[in-house]
Parts: sequence; structure tokens; C-alpha cells
Amino acid sequence: MSQNKIPLAGVIGCPIAHSRSPQLHGHWLSANNVAGFYVPMDIAPDDLETMLRALPKAGFVGVNVTIPHKEAALQIADEVSERARLIGAANTLTFLPDGRIHADNTDGYGFLTNLRAGAPEWEPASGPAVVLGAGGAARAVLVSLLEAGVPKITLSNRTQARAEQLQTEFGDRITVQPWDTITDSFPAAALLVNTTSLGMTGKPPLDMDLNMLNAQAVVTDLVYTPLQTGLLQQAAARGCTTVDGLGMLLHQGAPGFARWFGAEPVVDDALRRAVLG
Ligand code: NAP
Repeated sequence: MSQNKIPLAGVIGCPIAHSRSPQLHGHWLSANNVAGFYVPMDIAPDDLETMLRALPKAGFVGVNVTIPHKEAALQIADEVSERARLIGAANTLTFLPDGRIHADNTDGYGFLTNLRAGAPEWEPASGPAVVLGAGGAARAVLVSLLEAGVPKITLSNRTQARAEQLQTEFGDRITVQPWDTITDSFPAAALLVNTTSLGMTGKPPLDMDLNMLNAQAVVTDLVYTPLQTGLLQQAAARGCTTVDGLGMLLHQGAPGFARWFGAEPVVDDALRRAVLG
């Protein structure tokens, strides 16, 4: 891209109206005095590759991709980061000067950075982690926890076969526990992570008895609507450190912003307020 073009970035999904990424990047653009724009784009799956190949010609330096395009974007990309390959999906694409598309996945980075910021006492070596859920978000969480050095992860999902598939893929530091006996793994847990959509506004609650959980355990929820989910409220009442899911969304956006616009974005309360609207 020539130096005098205004840099453009955006988020591609289908639908896209719910995305908070425009508020996130919009805040960073003005906070960093960057003369650029970040726009939401509703693109049908059949048009994804055509659009991705055309956007750099219109001045786009990169895009985020969200549901349902995360896996397809990985296939289309010409260059793939190791973490995106492991997760099996992309959320951050960068258009390289030679026309190639670089794919990355920053969800695991966002998860871990948020966890470390919200619970500085937590260390990967603190002990076993319990992860609830085996969907797309769980893949990113597992890859980041394994990479950080968590010694053992107990994984549980309503559809057990999906958890077993992840165990096969990611190896023997992961143990699968049936959904209806998951609380048996709570006494040893140093970290409990909800990656299911349970507890989200409009979804059923995550009905889980935390009585067996150690008060030293850290509890985090990927759901951030509401910010204080039932799980986090229950964990706080037990004396556990809790970390809400909004920070993951904020931190996952930072590497893309830095790459595309050349400024280091800051995750702070002003950003949280801007994104919560
Ligand atoms: P997904 O791929 O659709 O996976 C959904 C997960 O929730 C699966 O494990 C599913 O279990 C489980 N689930 C759904 N309904 C259930 C029920 N009634 N009982 C038990 N389990 C149930 O979704 P995803 O992309 O992984 O996202 C999961 C959640 O994380 C969403 O709420 C999403 O908004 C949130 N998230 C947040 C961030 C962030 O930045 N904070 C990032 C990514 C995702 P089955 O396999 O049995 O269906």
C-alpha cells in the first residue's frame, strides 16, 4: 500500500451487526490518533475469497474474521501462524505487501493475557485446569493453556465425543471427564474455565455446584453478556478470584491493531467502557 493511502481494516462475518470489534478498534484509532477506519462487513460464505483478494486493492491492511468464516479464512490464507494452525481457525488476517494473506489466531493470546491481567497470582504451574466446553473457543483456550505449560487439563463437554476428539488432537495432558461428574475434578483444580455458551443472556444457565472448588482456584468465563455471569458470582461468593470474558475480546484485538496500524493499543477501563457502549 502506498504511504499516503488511509489504512482501512474491518471485521467480516455473516451476520455482523452484533460485533463489538468496530467500537474496540474505533476507540484505539482515536486514542492513538491514527487516521484510519475500521468497518463491519457482512459477507456471505460464497463471496469470502473474492472479497479477501479484493480488499487490499481498496486500501485494506487487514481484517478480523468471525463466525462463520474462521475455518474458511484459514484455508484461503497463503501463510498461517503456528497457533492458528493448531487452533484450526483464523481470526486475524493481514494483507502482505506482496499480495499474500497471512492468517493468525489471537483468541488464545487474548484469553491468556486477560487471565494473567485479572489473576496475577495464577501461574500455569499452579495446578490442573478444568475446561468446560469443546467448541471453537475451547480449542483456543486449550492451545494457549498447553503452550503456557499447564500440567494437566480436565476437559468436559455435554457431547463427550467432541471432548474426546480434542483429547486425541492435543494429547495426553488432557483427560476427558463426563459432563455429569465434572465436579469430581473440582477439588484439585487451580483454574476453572467456562467456554460453553451457557450463562449467556438468552441461553440456559450454567448449573454447576462449586462447593467442591478450592477457594484458591481462579474462575474465568468466556461469556461476557452479562459481565458477571452466574458462574462468576458463585465463584466470587466462595472467595475465588474471578476474571470476566470481556478482557479476552479486548486483548485478542490488540495484535491485529498493532500490525495493521503500527501503534501499540492499550487495554484499559476507558476501552472497556467504549466497548460496553
Ligand atoms: P461453539 O463452537 O458453538 O461451542 C458451544 C459450546 O457450548 C459447546 O461446547 C457446546 O456443547 C456447549 N453448549 C451449548 N449449549 C449447551 C447446553 N445447553 N448444555 C451444555 N453445553 C452446551 O461456540 P464457541 O465459539 O466455542 O463459543 C462459546 C462461548 O464463548 C460463546 O458464548 C461465545 O460468545 C464465547 N466466546 C467469547 C470470547 C471472548 O472473547 N470472550 C471469544 C470466543 C467465544 P456441545 O458440543 O454439546 O453442543
